[in-house]
Amino acid sequence: DYLSNKIAAGEVVERPASVVKELVENAIDAGSSVIEVEVEEAGLSSIRIIDNGEGIAEDDVLHAFHRHATSKIQDESDLFRIRTLGFRGEALPSIASVSKVELKTCHSDIGTRVVLEGGKVVTMEKAASRKGTDITVSDLFYNTPARLKYMKTIHTELGNITDVMNRLSLSHPEISFRLLHNDKQLLKTTGNCDVRQVLAAIYGLNIVKKMIPIQTQSLDFKVSGYVALPEITRASRNYISTMINGRFIKNYPLVKAIQEGYHTLLPIGRYPIVLLNIEMDPLLVDVNVHPSKMEVRLSKEHELNELVTATIKQVFKKEEL
Ligand code: ADP
Ligand code: MG
Repeated sequence: DYLSNKIAAGEVVERPASVVKELVENAIDAGSSVIEVEVEEAGLSSIRIIDNGEGIAEDDVLHAFHRHATSKIQDESDLFRIRTLGFRGEALPSIASVSKVELKTCHSDIGTRVVLEGGKVVTMEKAASRKGTDITVSDLFYNTPARLKYMKTIHTELGNITDVMNRLSLSHPEISFRLLHNDKQLLKTTGNCDVRQVLAAIYGLNIVKKMIPIQTQSLDFKVSGYVALPEITRASRNYISTMINGRFIKNYPLVKAIQEGYHTLLPIGRYPIVLLNIEMDPLLVDVNVHPSKMEVRLSKEHELNELVTATIKQVFKKEEL
């Protein structure tokens, strides 16, 4: 079913950043504590992810490239209840169908090396390897020229990759991440569990010094995170990061509620730097909007938004004193 894989790829694999996201999420799901990402030409030439996770057993390697071969979950509605990020079993087959893949992986003692081109296996052999997985995706979209045409500049595609890596490292401060582009290091986190250190790696220590921790709770929600002083602004909303139960989400009303918390403190057209995590009953989250796009709908949205606005307002009231 090469064709259906290619069709699915149109959904899952929009651009190099989507490949990075899917592969790093797999590395996270595999229990890795160190994950290194090396990209060349913003991922259009190659994307390599090296992890120290549990690896894939020899017998399961080919299966992993079959559609819906997830080892993780059956039911999408469980998405927020489980801790694994993957659940559709579509990423590997989709990515493989539109690129050249080399996968080296080791689960116990003997490793496996498999090479695929356009989703077809061209080599499969035993290989010496340390525990974990090392996957390289080259020549992305080489066989889908129409898709390749949609790629933006190296600058834009790399920006998307950096965004993905920032989000993943913020939601996993316990994992050490490294991102290299054309051998230049763009991000390195220590994996020591401290979100402030991840924020520092991304925004710089001077900004983090001006980020105030917040924490509050209602019957249904627990809100925590960091809000930058209003003197620190950005020209885009992209610096407002929101998580639910440790998973990045997009929810416009929530972003509005955060901005509302700053009220008149921000100049028009300027936005704050914020990292917010909301702990809540997974049953109050509807992820059916579009899982890979991260958009969610929330029950009791109004209550949450009021809580968020009030909490941020409170912080800056105190700051003024
Ligand atoms: P999903 O993540 O939705 O299960 P994928 O297509 O992303 O589907 O991956 C298919 C399967 O391959 C996973 O369920 C997992 O068993 C295995 N796998 C993929 N990447 C890794 C990795 N880095 N380490 C260990 N296992 C992996
Ligand atoms: Mg996956």
